[in-house]
Amino acid sequence: SSSESQPTPPKIFAIANQKGGVGKTTTAINLATALAAVGDRVLLIDLDPQGNASTGLGVARNNRSPGSYEFLLGLTSLTDSVRTTQIPNLSVMPASVQLAGAEIELIDLERREHRLADALAAPGNDARARWDTILIDCPPSLGLVTLNALVAVDAVLVPLQAEFLALEGIGALSNTVDRVKKKLNPKLHIAGVVLTMVDRRMTLSQQVEADVRGHFGELVFGTTIPRNVRIAEAPSHGLPVIIYDNACAGSQAYILLASEFIRRRRNAAEAAVSQASD
Ligand code: ADP
Ligand code: MG
Repeated sequence: SSSESQPTPPKIFAIANQKGGVGKTTTAINLATALAAVGDRVLLIDLDPQGNASTGLGVARNNRSPGSYEFLLGLTSLTDSVRTTQIPNLSVMPASVQLAGAEIELIDLERREHRLADALAAPGNDARARWDTILIDCPPSLGLVTLNALVAVDAVLVPLQAEFLALEGIGALSNTVDRVKKKLNPKLHIAGVVLTMVDRRMTLSQQVEADVRGHFGELVFGTTIPRNVRIAEAPSHGLPVIIYDNACAGSQAYILLASEFIRRRRNAAEAAVSQASD
């Protein structure tokens, strides 16, 4: 198995940062939409009990069960927990408020950190065969629900808000990723850091961007997401900003981010193949 081996690009990504309000959900929704627009079959798993990704994709509150809560606990099939969206190629597994209870309920279960990974791989579910890309929108914590995501994914995308103390708390996330990699999921790595809500007119924003690039180097996406009012308006219409106002600066940035994501993923897959054939 050398020259013939097909590249196996990473497929399942957690969008994680234990800080709230940094752009996790916005990035999950718009990256998912942009990838679906170029023909990827995409599943977005809403793993935050607040259900913002479900709202942002127009899933009504009374249509969120069975969803990620039931799927995580093994109470439902993948098919029954997923909804189609208005966007071709894009499905969502919605989150209901019940998911808040999972943090406690998981404690007493066997393989409590592996529940999501097990469910995605279960015969009959076989998520990797059904989707090209699966994005998991994580809650703002490093609890058991986020741990389940980190065990189930190939890699992590970290949105960082370009503000004072942006790097604060990132140590905790990095340590968690390292611990999970050592003990539970050897392939886990950070695939990229996305700077969000950037305001290049502000000296502070520029300084934060320079700090983050200094700290993470090549891991930081070249594309940054500007602060843009259309991004904030879109969720109340139940639409990704890319659909709500395709021409605004926020949409353009997320479309560029998606193309950079695709390029990076292809490069990672090719690197893996050439390593395997060495
Ligand atoms: P998280 O999922 O990390 O909590 P969200 O994606 O929900 O963060 O974003 C927090 C809030 O900021 C939301 O109201 C969202 O609409 C808004 N927001 C996110 N990104 C931007 C941006 N680039 N410009 C303006 N508002 C944004
Ligand atoms: Mg969120």
